[in-house]
Amino acid sequence: MTHPTTWLRVLPQGLFCEPGGFFVDPIRPVDRAVITHAHSDHARPGHASVLASPATATLMQVRMGEGRTGALHTLGWGEPLTVGDVRLTLQPAGHVLGSAQVVMEYEGCRAVVSGDYKRCPDPTCDGFVPVQCDVFITEATFGLPVFRHPKPQKEIARLLASVALFPDRSHIVGCYALGKCQRLVVLLREAGWDRPIYLHGALASLCAAYQRLGVALRDLRPATIAAREELRGAIVLAPPSAVQDRWARRLADPVVGLASGWMRVRQRAKSRGIELPLVISDHADWDELLRTIDDVQAPEIWVTHGREEALIRAVSLKGLKGRALRLIGYGDEDDEGVSIDDAA
Ligand SMILES: [Zn+2]
Ligand SMILES: [Zn+2]
Repeated sequence: MTHPTTWLRVLPQGLFCEPGGFFVDPIRPVDRAVITHAHSDHARPGHASVLASPATATLMQVRMGEGRTGALHTLGWGEPLTVGDVRLTLQPAGHVLGSAQVVMEYEGCRAVVSGDYKRCPDPTCDGFVPVQCDVFITEATFGLPVFRHPKPQKEIARLLASVALFPDRSHIVGCYALGKCQRLVVLLREAGWDRPIYLHGALASLCAAYQRLGVALRDLRPATIAAREELRGAIVLAPPSAVQDRWARRLADPVVGLASGWMRVRQRAKSRGIELPLVISDHADWDELLRTIDDVQAPEIWVTHGREEALIRAVSLKGLKGRALRLIGYGDEDDEGVSIDDAA
């Protein structure tokens, strides 16, 4: 077996699979990119050739426009593809629609890049499939023991309780445009909310794309042209950057909420004036990270974009080898900074 330290390298463009001649989620334009999912820090424009799951390819076209994605090639779940000397497959990551793990096999060794992932069931995308491997490269956005996400249904129930309590106020909930927004809509539908859900304009095109890809969101209406009176007692979804600005103030005495894993940190909610913090995340929490490390049975864990140290300590307590993979350029779509560009 040829150990991945000899064939997976961190270059300025990102993680490079040398015998396959491709990068995974490169942060700079490259000839051949394999893209785990369509969030803007992972799927960037300007590559010559892109391999992704079919849904990710569609969502990239919606977000970037047809001409900017590079030549798109798609690969279904579990379909093997030989790229150079590497056998490559994609498996669902459970993060957002189309999100994939990249499975690479070379000379008797299997390495898996998780991309962003979660284990909590999400009705808007295929669930994470654990793949046994020799090296597992995991994200660690919420890689601290304090991060334990509650059940999303419980958070949705809090939102609906607030709507019942304040029937004359609009409830505006900040949410990332790709994934979180559609998940909130489906969670609300599953909780019995069958009234129209109103959307800020920045969320419309990705919701339409989800619907075309088979995720039923039912009655969605633009919040911008709706009358103020119609929005009393209504639920309005908007990008996180819009919930506190002038746009939100036109609504009827709004209750301002935000759906993010970071809402677990009370101080963050408070400093941003969030009255109704909803702890709903598309990233694995601490328990899900550890459970996944058990499930994939890899003797070696490489940790990327997040709080690497705590997870590496936990990994070594399990008797496994941990390594911080210093990949730069990945944000966190749950966080304020990267949410604005999704207005496109
Ligand atoms: Zn992501
Ligand atoms: Zn990420």
